Amino acid sequence: MQIHRDETVLDSDAVDFESSRLQPVIVFRVHEIALKGLNRRWFTQILRENIAHALRGLNVDNFRSRSSRTFVDLHDLDQWPEARERLKHVFGVANFSLALQCRVRMKSIRSALHTLFKVEGEPEGSFCVRSRRANKNFPKRSPEIERDIGAWIQRKTDAPVDLSNPDRTYRIEILHDAIYVSSDAIQGPGGLPVGVSGRVVVLMSGGFDSPIAAYRMLKRGCTVTMVHCHAHPFVRSTSIEKVTELARKICEHQPDCRLVTVPIGEAQQQIAITSEPTLRVVLYRRHMVRIAAALAESEGAGALVTGESVGQVSSQTLENIQAIGSATDLPILRPLIGFDKNEIVDHARELGTEEISSVPDDDCCTVFVPAHPTTHATVAEAEQAEEQMDVAALVEQSMARQTIFAGDPANWDVNLALNPELASV
Ligand code: ATP
Ligand code: MG
Repeated sequence: MQIHRDETVLDSDAVDFESSRLQPVIVFRVHEIALKGLNRRWFTQILRENIAHALRGLNVDNFRSRSSRTFVDLHDLDQWPEARERLKHVFGVANFSLALQCRVRMKSIRSALHTLFKVEGEPEGSFCVRSRRANKNFPKRSPEIERDIGAWIQRKTDAPVDLSNPDRTYRIEILHDAIYVSSDAIQGPGGLPVGVSGRVVVLMSGGFDSPIAAYRMLKRGCTVTMVHCHAHPFVRSTSIEKVTELARKICEHQPDCRLVTVPIGEAQQQIAITSEPTLRVVLYRRHMVRIAAALAESEGAGALVTGESVGQVSSQTLENIQAIGSATDLPILRPLIGFDKNEIVDHARELGTEEISSVPDDDCCTVFVPAHPTTHATVAEAEQAEEQMDVAALVEQSMARQTIFAGDPANWDVNLALNPELASV
């Protein structure tokens, strides 16, 4: 006859993988404040979709949410390092961790930790154990669990316990139907899930600023459509290649990613024929704004976004910002307006866009312009100059040769942007 042993009390070192029913789970936490109000379900649903997109191709399923946390089962522990890297890009996630879900028994907690050590390594410095017992029927109280499991880890790994400033914390959460065992959470990017704040059109040059502006908007929950205006074949194609690369980086943060390239060289020629050289940069920019606004309409976007910051270059004086912005009724958001260039470049370094942005290219706005364009354009001056041209026709002409990149950015073929004729064949 088998003697029933209360293993939670007696069997202090036993590990039992077979019967522990270990299930690796990724646990996501969002900032509670973002979940307030009626939008909670919708917000959580979009976050789940974004996480599912980030983890596509990996062996995960069974999404579920409980208060401010979302859970998903990960069936192959070898995929954790890959999942971890991808999840660092999902906005709305404050932090996340790998947890092992197991049966409600002390033995299973040890099995779970044993497995966690295999995946993440044993604690290298000091550690502590923190337990929360929502299931008050569990025979041990939290301080006792912490002491017992702490002693077991110490025996197994020789790592010292430090309750005030541990290098690693192991968390044990005891619920009615399962126990979750995890170690330190990994910081997510925070912000809001991409998609909860609507769509914007970001004007992308190949420079440092616009990708960072796009990133800031993604972080506030906006889906971005990117638009790049170029003067190829009048200038080299470098800016198009750079923007495509930059857009691929931006796309790591959102499921539904789109880049539109628009050749404006011919429109620029026509603008140059009828306007004062000093005013041309402002007129080119107004043309770009109109293109972006036309795109915003077809994309259902509620605002345009630029990487402008006051005083950075001659087109970014307060006067020129107004003269350029008045070409549309849509709000133009400028998330970098108060940033120094070096702050923006630091940000670019962190995000991995610095190297791409620093490649020299040909800015289309330098075509047919003098060395010193005006820094004090007025709306009236710009409108007067445009009376000599059919601005709507110019926009239509440029848009007719746009190239739209959508779907998986890995498959985007830059040749289509260089030869818009190919795209329409
Ligand atoms: P960036 O580093 O983003 O190129 P910049 O310091 O070079 O900025 P400008 O060239 O004056 O500044 O551009 C200001 C903003 O205008 C850019 O951040 C971008 O949003 C938009 N812009 C500039 N050039 C283009 C372009 N060719 N196509 C689309 N948008 C553009
Ligand atoms: Mg630029």
